[in-house]
Amino acid sequence: MQKILVVEDEVKVANAVKQGLEENGFEVDVAYDGRIGKGLAAGNSYDLVILDLNLPHFNGYELCEVIRAKNNRVPIIMLTALGGVDDKMQAFELGADDYLVKPFDFRELLARIRVFLKRVGAEPTQSTQFKIAIADLEIDREKKEVTRAGKKIALTAKEYQLLEFLALHKGKVISKLTIAEKVWDIDFDTGTNVIEVYMNFLRKKIDKDFDSKLLHTKTGMGYYLSEEP
Ligand code: CA
Repeated sequence: MQKILVVEDEVKVANAVKQGLEENGFEVDVAYDGRIGKGLAAGNSYDLVILDLNLPHFNGYELCEVIRAKNNRVPIIMLTALGGVDDKMQAFELGADDYLVKPFDFRELLARIRVFLKRVGAEPTQSTQFKIAIADLEIDREKKEVTRAGKKIALTAKEYQLLEFLALHKGKVISKLTIAEKVWDIDFDTGTNVIEVYMNFLRKKIDKDFDSKLLHTKTGMGYYLSEEP
């Protein structure tokens, strides 16, 4: 059974999420404040974490950093009443994989959880291409590890999925719409900049310290991964 940690101080919301998840076959631990959430996260292994932003003792940002420091791979979905761009950016920078603004529809939360758990837990299936190399960038699809020039690059689960998707289509321009559908599995509201945000994160990690750039933008059309500009 997949195990989810919910850290949320609004008891009503926390309990509704817990009940909904349990009805859908998940095992759920709930923490009503940041300190308890931190303790649970430190002492257990979870398949996914749902984190409210405003919490007593430790806020969601701090908790996100703590969890990320311990486990680089666990998907983290942040919940918040705020919808500001700065909050989103901060959440993503601290390692959150997704961001849901309250009030939200439980079905939407469930859909996003399923995307993450399917992808994180999925065994490599049809494709037998376990290692992808583009110039000195190497992606090990079994270990979910990325290196460039032999140096390991730490990516969040979402960053890894985006990079892997571009790598599987190397040299081809992939539109933002396709990325939203295939990597996030969700139709994003028009006007979202989540893909640009993630592309910037990837650029910082993959390209910034190297002379030859691998991630490219085709203005108005999309993105591609290639050793040729
Ligand atoms: Ca709260």
